[in-house]
Amino acid sequence: MQPTDYVALIAHDGRKDVMADFVRRHKAQLEGLPLVATATTGGIVEAETGLDVRRVLSGPRGGDLQIGALIAEGKVRAVIFLRDPLTAHPHEPDISALMKVCDIHNVPLATNLATAEMLVDNLR
Ligand code: PGA
Repeated sequence: MQPTDYVALIAHDGRKDVMADFVRRHKAQLEGLPLVATATTGGIVEAETGLDVRRVLSGPRGGDLQIGALIAEGKVRAVIFLRDPLTAHPHEPDISALMKVCDIHNVPLATNLATAEMLVDNLR
């Protein structure tokens, strides 16, 4: 494992409660892994788990693109991105770019809770 082999965590506002519950339940799997998250999501993850999280900018302010850049550099092992598909997002192009770069680099991407539950047991 590389020290920068991050697990990236992002949740839209309508999914932040779901992310909080998810990381609380899966603290054991996330422990010891380098974590990176968009700003607000990272604060929630830290508060819920006490784990260290590298925080980039908030998603609407470029955080999705920062995580996308880490993916392109080969520094991300998996992305858990709990999207809210029923809300319009001003940074939709950034969201699309993040998902695109996952597919380009064959990085696992969970965009809903059911997939995240499957992914979290296979992070090591
Ligand atoms: P946030 O960014 O974690 O800073 O809220 C995620 C997003 O809403 O795109």
